[in-house]
Amino acid sequence: MTPNALRLFRQLAYIDGQWLSADEVGTQAIFNPANGEEIGRVPNMGSVEARRAIAAANAAWPAWRARTAKERCAILKRWHALILENADALAEILTLEQGKPLAEARGEILYAASFIEWFAEEAKRIYGDTIPSHKPDARIVVTKEPIGVVAAITPWNFPAAMITRKVGPALAAGCPCIVKPAPETPFSALALATLAEEAGLPAGLLNVITGDAVAIGNELCASATVRKLSFTGSTPIGKLLMQQCASTLKKVSLELGGNAPFIVFDDADLERAVEGALIAKYRNAGQTCVCVNRFLVQDGIHDAFVARLAERVAELKVADGFTEGAQQGPLINSRAVDKVADHVADALGKGATLVCGGERHVLGHGFYQPTVLSGVTGEMKVARDETFGPLAAVFRFSDEAQAIHMANDTEFGLAAYCYTRDLGRAWRMSEALEYGMVGINEGLISTEVAPFGGIKASGLGREGSHYGIDDYLEIKYTLMGGL
Ligand code: ADP
Repeated sequence: MTPNALRLFRQLAYIDGQWLSADEVGTQAIFNPANGEEIGRVPNMGSVEARRAIAAANAAWPAWRARTAKERCAILKRWHALILENADALAEILTLEQGKPLAEARGEILYAASFIEWFAEEAKRIYGDTIPSHKPDARIVVTKEPIGVVAAITPWNFPAAMITRKVGPALAAGCPCIVKPAPETPFSALALATLAEEAGLPAGLLNVITGDAVAIGNELCASATVRKLSFTGSTPIGKLLMQQCASTLKKVSLELGGNAPFIVFDDADLERAVEGALIAKYRNAGQTCVCVNRFLVQDGIHDAFVARLAERVAELKVADGFTEGAQQGPLINSRAVDKVADHVADALGKGATLVCGGERHVLGHGFYQPTVLSGVTGEMKVARDETFGPLAAVFRFSDEAQAIHMANDTEFGLAAYCYTRDLGRAWRMSEALEYGMVGINEGLISTEVAPFGGIKASGLGREGSHYGIDDYLEIKYTLMGGL
């Protein structure tokens, strides 16, 4: 590890401004998905430490909410600057624990930083309203207030960005946070907390607890002090956490699974569609919730699209994320690889055609060959279940109505992509797709300036953009009477 990465690599948890070792609780080992080697250990904390973090966050709240927006903004901006200054070191830690190619990891760090910058600026724009009164001697004023202690439970696929996308708006709004990072990738979270501390964020406002997900989750959900849960992860765990939050009627944001369609019409720009397909499918080795799960391709362009896609996919460089020029790293663990292998075997068993890939990669561990299958149909597992790996499954369709039906035939509704040069069709598709986000002739839709989130079983709430701070605010209405 480079000296700067080593400086940010903390094998400790962070509660109430203190770095805590595992004296009483023991440790959990964290592994590099590229080679299975242990890279470090973090404290195996549970409900006692979660309660401590909740109390610390609650105690830090009054002083933080009392600060002016400009003061909160200044601290967040310092944090943002430190993340940028340390981007290489943060990327190194990210690749080490998560596996994605170093250049992609650096991209994630910049993306993560962008949420801190965006919400630092938004802190100053938490505007209220005045409403024409219903009585002559009264006035109506609407203000927005921080909701209170926020719990953030995050996944391993974006170990930095999924944290800043929640913590950025929470802190900007005036709320303290408790982060429970994914057990696979705690070190990016701890490195970010180190920089937040250096930026001057007061103790108790950002706590990072590592350890027993179930025990910590139970405590965070059951606590009446925690007023908001923001979760990114799988749909079953999202449903479970929402149930657990019901007893305290906590506000919840859930960013859950997807089953993204990528629709290519005959009139699409083929090269552009293939370029978009590569990004929308193989980024992070297919492990993003907006990754394409189903390519729906119209009859007339089908064969050309499949051939060109396979040609480009075969050129992808699969390697350890630290290898120069690596484009696809390992999947997060062997279970993830087993799932891809299962989807491929199931599809082939039911009549799909293997166009390229289709095997575990010779590099072993979490590596799987970038794969393309054609002739995929609705009876195959990949039609319903998110593969979360480097498998492009290509379905065929004949007309627009059929494409819309196929695209919407899923419980999920996160991201959809559509390639066409017909303006009317582009609008019709955008309106017909039952999804929270639609990319027309674009394969990369994530940006801090736009609202990210899904409908149906893909979740509740939006993150990023000027909408993203609302989830951390309560609306207060004051009637000033007797004037
Ligand atoms: P994945 O299968 O991709 O790991 P999960 O939904 O299981 O997705 O995990 C996302 C996050 O939810 C992780 O931080 C994980 O530790 C956490 N998590 C999983 N199960 C629970 C639970 N029962 N209570 C609280 N958090 C949980």
